[in-house]
Amino acid sequence: MKRQILVATTNPGKVKELRAMLDEEIEWLGLSDVAAMPEVEEDGATFAENARKKATTYAQLSGLWTLSDDSGLVVDALGGEPGVHSARYSGATGVDRPTLDRLNIETLLKNLKEVPPENRQARFVCYLCLASPEKVLVETHGAFEGRIIDHAQGEQGFGYDPIFWVPQLQKTVAQLESSQKNRLSHRGQAMTKFKPLLQDLLAQK
Ligand code: IMP
Repeated sequence: MKRQILVATTNPGKVKELRAMLDEEIEWLGLSDVAAMPEVEEDGATFAENARKKATTYAQLSGLWTLSDDSGLVVDALGGEPGVHSARYSGATGVDRPTLDRLNIETLLKNLKEVPPENRQARFVCYLCLASPEKVLVETHGAFEGRIIDHAQGEQGFGYDPIFWVPQLQKTVAQLESSQKNRLSHRGQAMTKFKPLLQDLLAQK
């Protein structure tokens, strides 16, 4: 029987990307496939802490091995912000995801108004954590370097992708094909490290 692993995120952008990368002999479940779960508060000071908290809490609640992704945008000129606050940077609540993404981008661009282009280095960061109900099994992370531009460009992806410029491609992440984003991105890099560790783990069971 295929092992079931719960992917513990409600972000449809992340679910789509993670599922495209996860081609192992696994039955991947989403939060909508299991009994209703309370939302886990992401109150950690680091991405690693939040990823661990989400994976271990959902694993204990569901009884399943659970994979979590905690990720976000780190902007050097803003002392690392939005960082762990990336998802709710604008402070808006009760709005749909496209609106939330737009408001987060507006907030970031407002905060970067006085920062010249040469000082707008940033990176997307992704921490993955796989936990069983008993313990953390695998942790990996990845980072994707770029810089923030002033105007949204492109329709693909989600979140801050339209203002994240990839210098070597001369495009924003929202202008990349999904397969290209998945090869280069923070999530793609974390997943490349994750897959062999998962295979080792499955071979031991
Ligand atoms: P969380 O990990 O659910 O707390 O939220 C991560 C937030 O970081 C998302 O809601 C996005 O705003 C941002 N983010 C994470 N990964 C990406 C990405 O691949 N592209 C654009 N934005 C991202």
